[in-house]
Amino acid sequence: MKFTELKLGEKLLEAISYMGFENAMPIQEKVIPIILENKDLIACSQTGSGKTAAFVLPILNKLIGKKEVNVDTLVIVPTRELAMQIEQEIQGFSYFVSAGSIAVYGGGDGGDWDLQKDALKNGTDIIIATPGRLLSHLKLGYVNFKNIKHLILDEADRMLDMGFIDDIDTIISYLPKKHQTLMFSATMPKSIRQLAHKILHNPVEISLAISKPVESVDQKAYLIFEAQKVNLIKHLLAERKNYDSIIIFTSTKKKVSDIVGSLNKYGFPSRGISSNLDQDSREEVLMGFRSKRIRILVATDVMSRGIDVKEINMVINYDVPNDTEDYVHRIGRTARVNAKGEAITLVTQKEVPKIREIEQLIEASIPKLQPPDGIGQVPKWKEGEHKPKNKRRFYKTKGKFKKKNNK
Ligand code: AMP
Repeated sequence: MKFTELKLGEKLLEAISYMGFENAMPIQEKVIPIILENKDLIACSQTGSGKTAAFVLPILNKLIGKKEVNVDTLVIVPTRELAMQIEQEIQGFSYFVSAGSIAVYGGGDGGDWDLQKDALKNGTDIIIATPGRLLSHLKLGYVNFKNIKHLILDEADRMLDMGFIDDIDTIISYLPKKHQTLMFSATMPKSIRQLAHKILHNPVEISLAISKPVESVDQKAYLIFEAQKVNLIKHLLAERKNYDSIIIFTSTKKKVSDIVGSLNKYGFPSRGISSNLDQDSREEVLMGFRSKRIRILVATDVMSRGIDVKEINMVINYDVPNDTEDYVHRIGRTARVNAKGEAITLVTQKEVPKIREIEQLIEASIPKLQPPDGIGQVPKWKEGEHKPKNKRRFYKTKGKFKKKNNK
C-alpha cells in the first residue's frame, strides 16, 4: 500500500519520501488508521517490521500545526538504546513537521539530567523514556504531564520481563485519565494480555506473525561440545569472508568477554557489548558496528531486542537462549526489511530440549548440520530423544524474579 492512501498530511508524506520509504509495511498499513482514529491499540509485531514508524507517523501527523509547547506523547521503552533509536527516527521525520522530542534515560552525565528536566518541566512534544529514569524525574515533582494525549508502551513484553510492571503502573498514575494508549509487544504471553486488559479501553487488536522468525532467515544448528564452540566459530567466520556484519549472542556478560578475547587472539577482531560497558562505550561500539567499522559484535540478550542495525549478514547463537522467545529476537537481528540473513545456533547436548522448545514455538524444524572437518568428534542428534520441557516462566515476588514451572 502506498503511504498516500493512509490519510497522512502533505508535510508528513514529504518526510516519508525524504526518508526513502516507498510503500507502507503491513504493520503500518494496519496500525496507522487506528491511531489516527484515536482508538486504543494492542499490536503484536516483531522488531524489524517497521513498528516504530507505525506509531511515530500518525502521532507526528496529529502534531502538525500544534502551537502549544507541552508534552503530547510519552513513549516508554525498556532500554536506552531503543529510546535513542526511536528518537532518531522521530528526528528524521520531524524535520518537516517541526515536532520536538527528547530521549530520557539514565547513565549519562549531569548535563543530560538537566536537559531532560527542562524538557519534562517546560514541555517538548514527544518524550521517549526508560521507566527508571522517568520515575526519578517524576518523584521530584516538576514533571508536567497534564496535556498528554498519547501513551505508547513499546516492547511491552520485554519491559515486563525486566520487572518494570510496578514502575509502569506508577508512571500511568501521573497521566491525565483520558489519553490514547498504544501497546506494542513482540510476543503475547498472558501477562501482556492482563496488562492490556488493565490499561487499554476497547483496544483494537493487531497481530502479525506472533513469535515467528522472519521467513528470509536461513536457520541452521550444530550439535557440539562446549569446548569446540570457538573453533567452529572460527571456521564459520573464515568461510564467510564476504560478510561484513556479524553478531554473536551469548547469555552472560562473562562469556561476552571470553569470546571476544578468543576471537581477537585468533585473528578475528571483534568487540563486545553488554551492560558491563558504560553508556559512552556502548554507544561507541554500536556506532562502530552500524558503520561496519566493527565486523563482529558479541552481545548479551539485552542487546538482542530493538537495536536497529541494518544488513546484518549472520547471527550466531553461541548458546541456546534460555527464554525461547529470545531466539526469535536474536535471529530477528538479521534479514531485516527485505534482506536475507543467516542464523546459526550452537547446541550442546544439554541444550537439545531447549532447541526442541524453540522449534515448537516457531512451528518449524531447524536444519541440523554436521560441523566441518577439523572440529573433531561431535555428539549425535537423536530425533525424538528429548521431549520439550514445560515452558518456564518468570514471576516476580517481593521484588525478586523466580523461575516457575508451569505444569
Ligand atoms: P522497526 O521495526 O521499527 O525497528 O523498523 C525497522 C527498519 O525499517 C527501520 O530501519 C526503519 O527505518 C525501516 N522502515 C520502516 N518503515 C519502512 C518502510 N515503509 N519502508 C522501508 N523501510 C522502512
